[in-house]
Amino acid sequence: MKRLDALVIAVILAASVIAMALLSATRDGADADGLYAEVFEDGVLLRSLPLSEDCDDLVTTQRGFNRIVVADGGVCVAEADCGSKTCVHSGTKRLPGEMIACLPHRLVIKIAGGEAPYDAIAY
Ligand SMILES: [Zn+2]
Repeated sequence: MKRLDALVIAVILAASVIAMALLSATRDGADADGLYAEVFEDGVLLRSLPLSEDCDDLVTTQRGFNRIVVADGGVCVAEADCGSKTCVHSGTKRLPGEMIACLPHRLVIKIAGGEAPYDAIAY
C-alpha cells in the first residue's frame, strides 16, 4: 500500500512537471503575440506585420524598396536600395517601441502592440 502511494505521488509529480514545462514552452512561443511591426512611409501606415508569424515582405515605394523580414519574433530590414543602408545595419528589433528608420525612403518600422490592434485577435 505504501509503495502504491509513493508511485501515485511520483506519477502526479511527474505529470505536473511535464504540464509546467508545456505551459512555459507555450508561453515562450506566445511572447511575440500581440506585437506588430508597423511599417510607415511618410507617417502613413503601409502594413502591420504580426511578429508571431514569419514573413518576408518586399515594401516598394516611389523612393525604392526595403525587404522586411519577420523571423523568430523579431523584424529586420534584410535588404534595401537606399544609400546609407542604415536600416539594414539596424539589425533585428523585437521589443515594443523599438524602431528601424530608413531616412532616404522615409520609411519607419515601429514595433507596436502588447495590446491587440484588431478585433479578430482574442485571448
Ligand atoms: Zn535604408
